[in-house]
Amino acid sequence: MLTPTDRLYYDDAYLTAFDAAILSCRDGWAALNRSAFYPTSGGQPFDTGVLTAEGTDYAVTDVQVQGNVVWHRIGASILEGIHVHGRIDWPRRFDHMQQHAGDHMLAGAAWQLFGATTIGLHMGNEVSSIDLSFPDGRTRLNDEEIDRWEMLVNERVQQDDPIRCWFPKPEELTALPLRKPPTVKEHVRVVAMGDYEMVACGGTHPRSTGQIGLVKILSCAPSRGNMRLTFISGMRATKYMARACRCAHSVAAALSSDLDGALPALEREREAAQGERRTLQAQLTEVALQLLQASARPIPGGVLYTGYYPFLSPAQLQSAATQLLRQDNNALALLSCPGKSGRTLVFCRGDALSYDMAALLRASGARGGGKPDFAQGSAPDDTPLKNAIAQITNEKE
Ligand SMILES: [Zn+2]
Repeated sequence: MLTPTDRLYYDDAYLTAFDAAILSCRDGWAALNRSAFYPTSGGQPFDTGVLTAEGTDYAVTDVQVQGNVVWHRIGASILEGIHVHGRIDWPRRFDHMQQHAGDHMLAGAAWQLFGATTIGLHMGNEVSSIDLSFPDGRTRLNDEEIDRWEMLVNERVQQDDPIRCWFPKPEELTALPLRKPPTVKEHVRVVAMGDYEMVACGGTHPRSTGQIGLVKILSCAPSRGNMRLTFISGMRATKYMARACRCAHSVAAALSSDLDGALPALEREREAAQGERRTLQAQLTEVALQLLQASARPIPGGVLYTGYYPFLSPAQLQSAATQLLRQDNNALALLSCPGKSGRTLVFCRGDALSYDMAALLRASGARGGGKPDFAQGSAPDDTPLKNAIAQITNEKE
């Protein structure tokens, strides 16, 4: 049994360097008698940094806790009892403190505003998320509710309220108004932020809410019967807002609008483009129909329409063929247009005829299939279309 590691970050989350001794070293992982490195727990990821022993630096690439012992992955072996100097990657840690404290602020405010309880949280490399359960079972918030929530949190950030962490005695703990019951029975550590957030937590926190800087809600969406909030805090949020702001101004400038007018301007442009697209499609279909009609030639029992239409998409070709059949029940159409693998083929006929289009398509050498009256396929070139036309014009029904 190893002696528990004295976790220096409990007393001082701002401690970045410390001296310690190796308790044990196994499979590239070193246990220390004391450490400022935070091990992955409570939704907060591990710290990275360096351990220096006898003049050699060992990069700490992972930190985990087992029982009460903190293990540092260094990928090497150091003898038990050797003294080490540890330094943690402070920008990474402080970023984690800002995300983690943002999580507390959002969870506390969600409890006060909506009676929502936290059922899961995840701190990611880019964004963090909290899964919330609402007493009325709802899985969404409207924009006004999201704004109210975010404003309350950022007001509290700007109040720069103190954040305090301590290990209360059992009799004190039972009297504390915690937001939710502790998940551990012994050595319960409590964090209190202003007079609005108090909960058991073993994580690292800034000294005051002002150091969180900014909390930005990114999305609130239904997730497995609850609501998932994604957010960012601190410098991450500042950088995100700079990017989002530059993007919004560029979009507005491209639309010759100001920021507030950008969305309506975009909608107007989209509607106009959709209208033009519809008109163009109708004109293309009309041109295609005229060309189709010009290709008409008699076959036994009906009229054959053929052609390659380089300006139509497969969907437009289908639509033109359908319109043709609607106009002429005796029509047999063997058509092609550009497709992914060369040519798309559409073979179809009116109800008055009995040719099998799927069989004709197969016999022509094209890939594809369909029904007796409508088949669609593909071919690398025009040969299958020519084969099918030859077969029909030589045939006697
Ligand atoms: Zn915490």
